[in-house]
Amino acid sequence: MRWNLYYRGSLSSCNYSCPYCPFAKTRNTRAELERDRAQLQRFQEWTQRQSAPLGILFTPWGEALGQRAYRKALVELSHQSNVERVAIQTNLSAPLKDLGAASQSLALWATYHPGEVSLERFAAQCRQLDLLGIRYSVGVVGLKGHFEDLTRLRQLLPQERYLWVNAYKRQADYYSASDIDFLKSIDPFFAYNLHRYPSLDTPCAAGHRSFAVDGQGDVRRCHFVGEVLGNIYRANWEDCLQPRLCPNQTCGCYIGYIHRPQLQWQERFGAGYLERIALALPDEKADLE
Ligand code: SF4
Ligand code: SF4
Repeated sequence: MRWNLYYRGSLSSCNYSCPYCPFAKTRNTRAELERDRAQLQRFQEWTQRQSAPLGILFTPWGEALGQRAYRKALVELSHQSNVERVAIQTNLSAPLKDLGAASQSLALWATYHPGEVSLERFAAQCRQLDLLGIRYSVGVVGLKGHFEDLTRLRQLLPQERYLWVNAYKRQADYYSASDIDFLKSIDPFFAYNLHRYPSLDTPCAAGHRSFAVDGQGDVRRCHFVGEVLGNIYRANWEDCLQPRLCPNQTCGCYIGYIHRPQLQWQERFGAGYLERIALALPDEKADLE
């Protein structure tokens, strides 16, 4: 059975300052980055000792791809025989050339942040990924002020490239019906992201076949439930993985709801569901479950 891991070390630096950023937006000191690198190294060594197939998505609390240590780890992990998939969430501002040495197991979850970088610069980075043969998805936070950029980005990307939109959910009834139609025309799966799913006491693979790991090795179901289930650096840690029910009222992020069996997400995204690369883009706009 494959384990899907979300790894988030102690890094919290980012070179951007997106106004909608939910993260810490700090600048790490050299010592803090060194600590994060040591955690990454320890995690990588742990992956080498596992016999189970692994899917790993790095979900840093900032921008990690700019750190050479992460690019090196991604390339190495992509060649590791038990790693079926390794991916990272990134703003795509980092130098990408090193990643050309990776295998096809590597993928990037790239987010365009209007106001932080020009669309042309971002699209040029996408083209470099194409030239390097690296798989990736592209997405944008669906603020109304981003609609024009979304239209232009859709035109700049190859037609087969999935462009996802994360719905802005912090404000109730934020979108009009025509906004929703527009966003569905950009992202055919937008309807799945538009709402938070009632999840309390419903089955979820998080904490069983999927789990989050922090820099200390602590295991949690997902990034949205604080309870620590175990620690990967302790003996028999995998005993903490078992079928579970969600303890939260709702679940609203892609990296969470894809583990709800009700959605059968793998049927739409196949092996690319961790990095958000759809198997095929549907002609029809997706309806809610
Ligand atoms: S790029 Fe990501 S981590 Fe950095 S400020 Fe923007 S949203 Fe936050
Ligand atoms: S439903 Fe969402 S919040 Fe609940 S355990 Fe699963 S991933 Fe976490």
